Amino acid sequence: MWDDLDGSDWAGAASRPARHRSSFVPAERAPDADGPSPESGPEGGPGPQRDPAPDPEPAPDPDPAPDPDPTPDPTPAPDPAPDPDPTPDPDPTPDPLPLRRSRREGRAVNLAETGEVPVQHQRARRAAGVRLVFGAMAGVALAVGGAAAITAALVSAPLSSAAELVAADAQLEPPPPTPVPLPQPVEALPTPMIAAAPAIVDICAIPAFTAALGAGDDSGAIAAAGGADVFRTAVASGTAGCVGLGDPARVWSVVNKTRPFDPVDYRPASLTRPDVRDIAAGDLRADAAASLREMFAAAAGAGAGELALDSGFRSYSTQRTTYQRLVSAKGAAGADLVSARPGFSEHQSGLAADVTACSSGCIGLESFAGTAQQQWIAAHSWEFGWIVRYEDECTSITGYSPEPWHLRYIGPELAGAYHAGGWRTLEEFLGLPAAPDYAD
Ligand SMILES: [Zn+2]
Repeated sequence: MWDDLDGSDWAGAASRPARHRSSFVPAERAPDADGPSPESGPEGGPGPQRDPAPDPEPAPDPDPAPDPDPTPDPTPAPDPAPDPDPTPDPDPTPDPLPLRRSRREGRAVNLAETGEVPVQHQRARRAAGVRLVFGAMAGVALAVGGAAAITAALVSAPLSSAAELVAADAQLEPPPPTPVPLPQPVEALPTPMIAAAPAIVDICAIPAFTAALGAGDDSGAIAAAGGADVFRTAVASGTAGCVGLGDPARVWSVVNKTRPFDPVDYRPASLTRPDVRDIAAGDLRADAAASLREMFAAAAGAGAGELALDSGFRSYSTQRTTYQRLVSAKGAAGADLVSARPGFSEHQSGLAADVTACSSGCIGLESFAGTAQQQWIAAHSWEFGWIVRYEDECTSITGYSPEPWHLRYIGPELAGAYHAGGWRTLEEFLGLPAAPDYAD
């Protein structure tokens, strides 16, 4: 489209006819000997003749020969207006092509003589310059890919200066690129919480634990290990070699039919008479005695009724007498279900207590089950560091018939873990094998 600058498409063609007439006509009119033509009136004025190329030929067609080309030229449009030349054309057949050829030839001769550059050539050069400018501009427009910019450049007036070119080029500058936002880093996905067994801790490598252990501070050692669950897990896994479950002085000691006292006549160093209703003048270890008194008071305060200590510490010799009496009554097999052999009874540790219910009087141990006191003890004794040592349906592990009155003190820390874990035997709680019967 921008190549068709000679055609009527060029928007600037409106001013071209004026330049065309002012520069072309005088050079061509001078040799015109045909007299004034209708177009030669006021210079630049519109003439009645629309033919932009009136016949300026001063002489008749010098070529009198007939047109050698028998085929009529289909391209030239016939001149709609009559030839204003009053001189009749000697050629009976009006052939515009030869006529134009002759005019061009005449001009060529004239220009060759004068050395002038044809006005048409000058226009062509200017047009070529304009093409160059527009071509460059169009190239810039194409470079930026702006079709709208190209259209605007073509329909606008020709640029008259380099400054306008620069300005136009600046207008064609593409807008600054919009920064592309960087993708946001994916936030870390939440880690699912999976319930798992507590990690096994080498509690014997903890200086605070071994220090408390050496000082006989069981509660301090459990705390230093990281709590009762950590302690229990370490012991049950068999990795806590520094913890002796056979030490009768520890709250975590385990005595059963396979684990006798060592020495067999072990006797606790500190025994005291608990400040509770006492049936048989039983003693307990000091920490167990204090806890028993507190527990009994709590049960009474809760409305569960009065409790009494039926039996506490029993020495090796005392246990031997008790066991022999029962063997005489029940036989050895019967006695072993209800009483321990000497050296195998928890009562020898000072950490076991047989409790019963009282009102005006106290009932026997065999009647304790089902009382309000028994129910309260089963539900709350762990809060004071006690557990029911021989529960129902645990004879295969403990070796004893159920004894809801036989309580074992293991301290509030371990008793809390025991209750929370739903444990029912101390053997399972600390990872020991079942002890249903004696070895021999
Ligand atoms: Zn007992």
